Amino acid sequence: MSERLVVIGADAAGMSAASQARRLRGPDELSIVAFERGHFTSFSACGIPYWVGGQVARRDSLIARTAEEHRAREIDLRMGAEVTEIDVSGGRVRARDLASGAETWTGYDKLVIATGASPIRPDLPGIDAAGVHGVQTLDDGQALLDTLEALEGRRAVVVGGGYIGVEMAEALIRRGFAVTLVDRGSEPMSTLDPDMGALVRKAMCDIGIDVRSGAEVTAIRTDGGRVRAVVTTSAEIPADVVVLGIGVAPATDLARAAGLPLGESGGLLTDLAMRVRGFDNIWAGGDCVEVLDLVSGMTRHIPLGTHANKHGQVIGSGVGGGYATFPGVVGTAMSKVCEVEVARTGLREKDARAAGLQFVTVVIESTGRAGYYPGAEPMTVKMLAERGAGRLLGVQIVGREGAAKRVDIAAVALTARMTVAQMTMLDLGYAPPFSPVWDPVLVAARKAAAAVRDS
Ligand SMILES: Cc1cc2nc3c(=O)[nH]c(=O)nc-3n(C[C@H](O)[C@H](O)[C@H](O)COP(=O)(O)OP(=O)(O)OC[C@H]3O[C@@H](n4cnc5c(N)ncnc54)[C@H](O)[C@@H]3O)c2cc1C
Repeated sequence: MSERLVVIGADAAGMSAASQARRLRGPDELSIVAFERGHFTSFSACGIPYWVGGQVARRDSLIARTAEEHRAREIDLRMGAEVTEIDVSGGRVRARDLASGAETWTGYDKLVIATGASPIRPDLPGIDAAGVHGVQTLDDGQALLDTLEALEGRRAVVVGGGYIGVEMAEALIRRGFAVTLVDRGSEPMSTLDPDMGALVRKAMCDIGIDVRSGAEVTAIRTDGGRVRAVVTTSAEIPADVVVLGIGVAPATDLARAAGLPLGESGGLLTDLAMRVRGFDNIWAGGDCVEVLDLVSGMTRHIPLGTHANKHGQVIGSGVGGGYATFPGVVGTAMSKVCEVEVARTGLREKDARAAGLQFVTVVIESTGRAGYYPGAEPMTVKMLAERGAGRLLGVQIVGREGAAKRVDIAAVALTARMTVAQMTMLDLGYAPPFSPVWDPVLVAARKAAAAVRDS
């Protein structure tokens, strides 16, 4: 007898799950209904800063698979349809057609919750003024581009110094705006330690971004309904357009109302197969769940597309009758400010302290190529290792070409729970155009191993 899978949310996690389930089970065995309240499926929000910045010319190149393409694979995709209730005991969801307002119930044998995360939008005077934009969806990106095209003024303020704020500040510089970035932290990129964040600040200042750290936004000043300035605890900054990049929270209102288990961050709690804890026929993945941090052993909310796609794959395998697990993450992420690349994995100093770990910290300067090879550029690597055992705890890198992807060496070492001493003998590739004979990550590992011995 055919079963029905219902998917809520048709982007990275939801449609990866639906597609993988369809690969394993044909339409005779499994019917799939997916509800999406937005206008797009399977799109890359990650590409929005580059589309706004002009490096990516067409919005549609950010769409990995359209609704029609999913439908051609026998997935009943209902666009513009918002799920408003999950009835767990009845095994059904209620959805509202956003155009007509009509509501219908759809039964499920298996349910996937992939509702993503909601951008944080502080309740400030003027926050809904024309010219204040988020960048969560392709519609948001288009609305921002339309505003930028129509503007005569060229002053932009970006609120939030996380990677989205930093990437959007660069995008606006590329479009010829004078950009101020306001952030309440002591340095931008709070996913790094402040000493490494200071290097990001320098990179931003070097391309002309006015970085205002330690400043909280208190209001958006408006004129005739349009943004005119951003008021902070220390200044009033004139603005023709404002971009919000303050962070996101798991979109789990539906799950909460249905009585499903949530963690401290509000993200859904799952087992390793991405099944919602205590519910055999409900799975959840992507930005709406908490994940296990393999380094600290704690669960955290880390909203990244790279996780969402893997969650979807694991969920689809489980739904389709196979077996797969998602073991957890080490917290790897990367970004850039023009030519300066920024990457991190594992624990920052404050994470290690919060986990009760004792550790040593080293910072080294090296270059991305052999020093004598043309184009060798500086790179800073920070490494944390556990005192005594010498286990690698975290790495942060800021540098130019080839810097960011070096963090993957550390991500693998963290996953394998290597010590920094073991890392020093890793057989990494070397030729002068790509690396000094001792790769910067190995130089940091040698210094960290020495610090562990001395600690
Ligand atoms: C500007 C930007 C840049 C980014 N850059 C990177 C990057 O470089 N690297 C990286 O790894 N990650 C990046 N991310 C994060 C990445 O885009 C997300 O982690 C990823 O999209 C999460 O996928 P998801 O499927 O869990 O959620 P989402 O992509 O948020 O999809 C959830 C979907 O569910 C729908 N939905 C929600 N509730 C309902 C409901 N009740 N009924 C029907 N539909 C519903 C939503 O409309 C949405 O389409 C970036 C994000 C942004 C915004």
